[in-house]
Amino acid sequence: MRILVTGGAGFIGSHLIDRLMEQNHEVICVDNFYTGHKRNLLRWKDHPYFEVIRHDITEEIRLEVDQIYHLACPASPVHYQYNPVKTIKTNVMGTLNMLGLAKRVKARFLLASTSEVYGDPEIHPQPETYRGNVNPIGIRSCYDEGKRVAETLAFDYHRQNDVEIRVARIFNTYGPRMLESDGRVVSNFVVQALRGNPLTIYGDGSQTRSFCYVSDLVEGLMRLMNGDHLGPINLGNPDEYTILELAQAVQNMVNPDVALKYEPLPQDDPRRRKPDIVLAKQLLDWQPTVPLNQGLERTVDDFRQRLGATDELPEP
Ligand code: NAD
Ligand code: UDP
Repeated sequence: MRILVTGGAGFIGSHLIDRLMEQNHEVICVDNFYTGHKRNLLRWKDHPYFEVIRHDITEEIRLEVDQIYHLACPASPVHYQYNPVKTIKTNVMGTLNMLGLAKRVKARFLLASTSEVYGDPEIHPQPETYRGNVNPIGIRSCYDEGKRVAETLAFDYHRQNDVEIRVARIFNTYGPRMLESDGRVVSNFVVQALRGNPLTIYGDGSQTRSFCYVSDLVEGLMRLMNGDHLGPINLGNPDEYTILELAQAVQNMVNPDVALKYEPLPQDDPRRRKPDIVLAKQLLDWQPTVPLNQGLERTVDDFRQRLGATDELPEP
């Protein structure tokens, strides 16, 4: 198949492209390199079945493809809040353009939606039927309301134009290739610990998240794309940790001497988050296999190599 991956130079997108290329598909990556990087795709640079197009998806593009994995959108609060209007344009106009493309060429379209559509959830864990508790005018709204509109657009294109859609609600995912400046909690803690800097805990660290290793997530995305169910389907690891527990896990693994530093909790930061993955288990026969400790070790190794390569690590 010829498969388009928008946002393919980013963290999840580049791991997805590795899997698709390994399966001998022809892959086109469309990315504006806002948070993505060509180094994530170097392995495929000269491959005859691989193509990268520098393009901003808020503009139209004409391509002929069989499937579209639509991942383009900054995912870290730091990056999506840097230019919130652009984040909304990416989610709304970008998704509209990609759905228009799917409609024109009759491609199957998978949307990388998010657990953020549940906002600060009143129901725990969150099943797909929960409609969420989202602030429409807060600093996270460009992202979570943007993704809610993206889901609406997908379902309207499906009902109105018979576009074959798949909607994944992705929960916090981590792993190698996250940007050192990403700003999300796993990469922040790992980079801070490797550099011997205090780990920055926002609030009192009692808020929870459930962390999914990237290879598990990519497997779930591919099963959803190639299965018969539209979704929305939660994809995430139901093992839930407080942010303080995560900090302690990184401390123990990387540097027991590193300090913890408490900083203010950002506005609208969800109190807790844990996916109900009954649907994914039943419909996709999918569940995560990589436990946090193992995934963290691989992530730490990757950061150690990258930071070491730029001499940014302190002397041991
Ligand atoms: P990322 O920031 O590493 O990747 C996003 C990619 O999209 C980058 O390569 C970026 O350059 C590209 N991009 C952004 N705006 C674009 C635009 N207007 N035109 C073209 N390219 C654009 O983030 P990620 O963690 O890999 O997330 C990928 C997708 O998964 C996103 O849609 C995100 O919302 C979703 N998601 C991720 C997580 C997570 O924990 N990583 C959780 C929920 C949902
Ligand atoms: N967080 C933290 N320290 C950091 C970065 C994030 O304590 O250096 C907290 C953040 O306030 C949130 C949780 O970790 O409660 C997860 O944040 P992240 O940005 O990774 O993802 P999201 O909030 O989108 O789930």
